[in-house]
Amino acid sequence: MISQLGTSGNQTLTESLVKAIQRYDGRLVSIMEVCGTHTMAISRYGIRELLPPNVRLVSGPGCPVCVTPSFYLKSALELCRREDTILATFGDMMRIPYKGVSLLTEKAMGRDIRMVYSPLDSLDIARQHPDKTVIFLSVGFETTVPVTAITVLEAAQQGLDNFMILSANKTIPAAMHLLSSDPEVAVDGFLYPGHVSAVIGSSFYEELAKAYGIPGAITGFDPADILGSILYVLEQIRDNKATVANLYSMVVQPGGNPIARGKMDEVFEPSDAVWRGLGQIPGSGLRLREKYRSFDAWGLINGSVEERDEEAGGCRCGDILKGKCLPSDCKLFGKACTPETPIGSCMVSSEGTCAAYYRYQ
Ligand code: SF4
Repeated sequence: MISQLGTSGNQTLTESLVKAIQRYDGRLVSIMEVCGTHTMAISRYGIRELLPPNVRLVSGPGCPVCVTPSFYLKSALELCRREDTILATFGDMMRIPYKGVSLLTEKAMGRDIRMVYSPLDSLDIARQHPDKTVIFLSVGFETTVPVTAITVLEAAQQGLDNFMILSANKTIPAAMHLLSSDPEVAVDGFLYPGHVSAVIGSSFYEELAKAYGIPGAITGFDPADILGSILYVLEQIRDNKATVANLYSMVVQPGGNPIARGKMDEVFEPSDAVWRGLGQIPGSGLRLREKYRSFDAWGLINGSVEERDEEAGGCRCGDILKGKCLPSDCKLFGKACTPETPIGSCMVSSEGTCAAYYRYQ
């Protein structure tokens, strides 16, 4: 049955997968979907409601905006208030609240903050405004970092000295090690992120599963893909095995995408990084290499913002990102905190768990 997966729109297959999952009668298990896009798809298709009560799906830290610590936003707010600066950012970052303000409220007050769809758009802005410093808020995982790397390479090649990035980029492997080894997380299986895996490859997960004895599946985003991966993980748990299935093999190769990784490695080097909910994870961040340090906007912050992550009062984003609770466990969910009045980043981002629950459940 598993080998049939990867097709979409096959209702018979989907129904048979649901029936097979509902036959699971083992112990209570928690399966973590690591990727924010999976969280959205699971909520959109109502997959949680199809599972038996002894199978629990919890969300992980796979939404880059959600895991960005508050001091990053504080730094971005500081930068946008500089007279000579234009901030360029993806839309999600605009709405994250920090102590009653956000980049959106700053924009309304006249700060020059522009929404872009690609980091490369920031280069156009920099070329059009040679008298300003254009800073791109670079927040992403392996899926988006290669394009940011290409942007920096292009800026260097064109001699654009008024372009910078503020990097909160992160890589998934170190976070997966932490999640797999943390007794507080207590996950029995993983649904691995499809897009990130296309870059880092499937081999990493095989080593991870072997090291920690936790099974997993790399999967796409259709209902049949997701259901198939859940069934695979349940079969592994039932049989006391911990292997990894690549159910997204059309996109994910064992070695990933070496060209994309090559671009990342050329521009960035590993650094320690603070993740909301997970704390500081050694080697899980990406900072610009010495050769490209002139593009690093952290130099403008120069230690004036303390590297501390503060959660808004009552917000449980940190626990949600660790799979320790669900949005419905937060007292503010759907009351004080909604997509229109978000309190935490998990309600802001289009890949945030709270936003997904609010929208679809
Ligand atoms: Fe934070 Fe809002 Fe989610 Fe509660 S519902 S955890 S306040 S984002």
